[in-house]
Amino acid sequence: MAEKLQQSDPEVERNCQKLINVMRVCKISEADKVKRDCFSVLELFYNKKTIDEKRAICEKLVEEGCSKPLVDWYDLLEKNLQDKNAKLCFEKVNRIVIEFSSSSFGFGVAVFKAGLVDFVLSVMDRFKETYKKDKFQERSVMDSLAILMHLATIVSIRDGLQEKYCEKKDLFEFYKDPKQNTKTTSILTLSIISRLADASNEDEIKADHSIMDFFKELVENAISSKDKVVKRNDIEFSLENLLFTMELLAYNAENSKYMLKKKLGPIIFKALKFNSQLKRESETKCCLSTLMIFLELVNELDEGEVVLGCPGLTDFLLELKSQGQSYDIAELIDEILGSIKSSCDYVYECREFFNSLNIPEEYLDETHNECYCSVCHKSRKQPDFYERGEPPKFYSLPIGWYRFGLKVPAKTIAQRAFDKWHRAFHGTQTDRIVKILQHGDLLMPGDRTAEGDQLRELDGHYNDKTKPKGFNTKQVFVSPTIKYAGLDSYAKPYKWKTDGKKARVAFQVLIQPDSFIVGKETIGVKHRLDSKYTNKELEWSTDRRGVVILYGILVKIEKK
Ligand SMILES: [Zn+2]
Repeated sequence: MAEKLQQSDPEVERNCQKLINVMRVCKISEADKVKRDCFSVLELFYNKKTIDEKRAICEKLVEEGCSKPLVDWYDLLEKNLQDKNAKLCFEKVNRIVIEFSSSSFGFGVAVFKAGLVDFVLSVMDRFKETYKKDKFQERSVMDSLAILMHLATIVSIRDGLQEKYCEKKDLFEFYKDPKQNTKTTSILTLSIISRLADASNEDEIKADHSIMDFFKELVENAISSKDKVVKRNDIEFSLENLLFTMELLAYNAENSKYMLKKKLGPIIFKALKFNSQLKRESETKCCLSTLMIFLELVNELDEGEVVLGCPGLTDFLLELKSQGQSYDIAELIDEILGSIKSSCDYVYECREFFNSLNIPEEYLDETHNECYCSVCHKSRKQPDFYERGEPPKFYSLPIGWYRFGLKVPAKTIAQRAFDKWHRAFHGTQTDRIVKILQHGDLLMPGDRTAEGDQLRELDGHYNDKTKPKGFNTKQVFVSPTIKYAGLDSYAKPYKWKTDGKKARVAFQVLIQPDSFIVGKETIGVKHRLDSKYTNKELEWSTDRRGVVILYGILVKIEKK
């Protein structure tokens, strides 16, 4: 106590007492004085550097009994808003309530108990239809929402506030509607709802893309700021409030799909790291729940962490759990880990390599991605071979490879190529992938590329001088098995990473029946490569164009 007295600041004390004394005379003729003294206290508040110093001012006001006169003035001013002086004073009183209730729970509790919320709601009700056309009304509505947002973070008054919220639910329905409101107003409202709505009957909220984009911008800015807050329209959104809002938004599947697409995964992961480090339990929970919702969505794609954009999430969660967590958090972590585990690790490596190829995403169709690693293949209980096309012909599944789906041209559908054509593989070099995609087709030796270069046979393959009699090298070659098409001579291994890992690539293609000749291997393979084919059936070649459709890029990563 002695310590507290020593610390008390005479300037703060004087200004707070002065404001309260002025406010005790609740007459509109005094509005000018109240405005002036509010301004002095606010100046003092803004000039303090630390949050503790700021909080001391809020607490001083409470201690001196400010809440009752303050709320009386709020009421009086609201009834006199046609008066210019009353308007100016109202703005200052609002500012005090916003700033102080965001800095001090004690202040928030005091004004709530003095009955402020009824008047705040009445301002929102009064201006709802007209506020967008009037600057003062707009300011007042945003200020009212900001006050509620701050009060809603205080656990001890939440029940009371929730009651008020339920009585006036329509009001919030109105303000969250992005079609009728500004973005800041909508986000403020969503933030209030995220705290006050009863989770059991919480209606899913479908948010507009424009709102979500704005929201993402807020979260990004808050997370990279020093104090973890972002300011819009003079209102501070804390990262904490934004995370609660995000969880609320994520409950709606359309919202979370959009959030995933907009790469909010890594941002939440960042927020999770930050909050768990500071042992902020409710924020940590928020991040985990949101990640869980995202994971449930991406697991349909079988690629957990990667699509989520959170490499290292598994390790981080294991570490977090080992530090000892509350029951709720440990539960959530287990749930997420279980969900990630359901997909294999191979995909992470393949994806990492694939990303390094910088293939424009316009070529890709993620819905056709598939992992053929032995674990995934076994878990699907599929055979190693399939018969495809008319007439049916065997092809071997690319076991050990990962397929990234490609968008296919319209003729694929028009000619029902997935039903009628055969499946095959074409190994190539990593640096050729993008070029081949640009051409949209496999080229033959002798062809001129878009850049004007003439293609020739690859070193070590037959050319006009070395080919056997009657062999045509000016063709496209594919194979019904990746065990042949994926050999070094075609899918040249590429040194991936310094730890000696290698990557190779191949195309998975459709080829028109009867457009190709089945021939023997041409690179001197001695042993039988694939139990389904003799070495005399490994090369399919065609000199026709337009009979091959690329539908997947296969990637294989090999350890040293
Ligand atoms: Zn796999």
